[in-house]
Amino acid sequence: MQIIKTNSLTKFFGTTAATDNISIQVELGEIYGFLGLNGAGKTTLIRMLLGMIKPNNGTVMLFDKELTSKFNQWNDIGYMVETPSAYPNLSVRENLMVYYKLRQLNNPLEIDFIIEKLKLSKYKDTKAKVLSMGNQQRLGLAKALMHRPKLLILDEPINGLDPEGIVEVRNLLKELSKNGSTIFLSSHILGEVAKVANRIGIVHEGKLIKELTSNELNDQLIKKVLVQTSDNARAIELLKSISHKVALSEDDDIEILDGKAIKQPENISKFLVEQGLPPRQVRLFTEDLEMFFLRTIRTKA
Ligand code: ATP
Repeated sequence: MQIIKTNSLTKFFGTTAATDNISIQVELGEIYGFLGLNGAGKTTLIRMLLGMIKPNNGTVMLFDKELTSKFNQWNDIGYMVETPSAYPNLSVRENLMVYYKLRQLNNPLEIDFIIEKLKLSKYKDTKAKVLSMGNQQRLGLAKALMHRPKLLILDEPINGLDPEGIVEVRNLLKELSKNGSTIFLSSHILGEVAKVANRIGIVHEGKLIKELTSNELNDQLIKKVLVQTSDNARAIELLKSISHKVALSEDDDIEILDGKAIKQPENISKFLVEQGLPPRQVRLFTEDLEMFFLRTIRTKA
């Protein structure tokens, strides 16, 4: 079942298309990571998914129902968009209480459960206005999650969190997805999205330029074996003689680009030792996600 489906979703601000013909589909139980640089159009798309702004063109379907004024499944959706807002003079618990009433929930234990879950117990009586940014983010997530929605839509959920918080939120999202929730999250932090999402959409200047699963992403990252020896010119000749695809990098590393070497870099060491040219260093290089992202953007621009 498709939980989210957008069809050619387009939103103009003036003459700029903040989102340009974006069609995405998110299946039940998926964690979909929507990746893009600042200003790429992530928040705009999320605001349209939540009916906060109207598209100039295109449609949104949530739970197979078109998003119109008659849409009546808001209780199945939890969200956090941009900097989460809270009543500044109310404590964490009081803020959640307001939300509990707004959502018309009927199990007060949920409030303490979610406070505990988001590691906010120490701050439950602290006024929202004095919370750190990371804890405000946790409070925002608590509000999004308290009613146990089937679909969670989160705009930059790890903004402002410390490394420990990032790991906690990542684990929390994975747990929610394992229990059947569908999650759509936006981020510009590529490594994080890759760690949590099953599928990734890359948006740039309003356009969806690539969609891939996390396995496909892993396959598409450039990998190579980097080698250093005391005589790189000779090592290159030797490696070419046994059909390796070899080049010299700008940093004077020997780069071996073929799959055979990438799968078994230890054979490279063994070969060079046998040839009387023991390598000083052999290491497997994997392109990082920032590089992949920039490469993707450049090739599509
Ligand atoms: P960030 O990561 O910085 O939050 P984003 O990917 O969420 O960026 P959007 O906030 O969706 O990007 O903005 C996309 C484009 O639309 C930007 O050029 C932005 O300046 C513009 N934009 C967004 N909201 C408005 C608005 N209300 N009025 C005018 N322009 C807007």
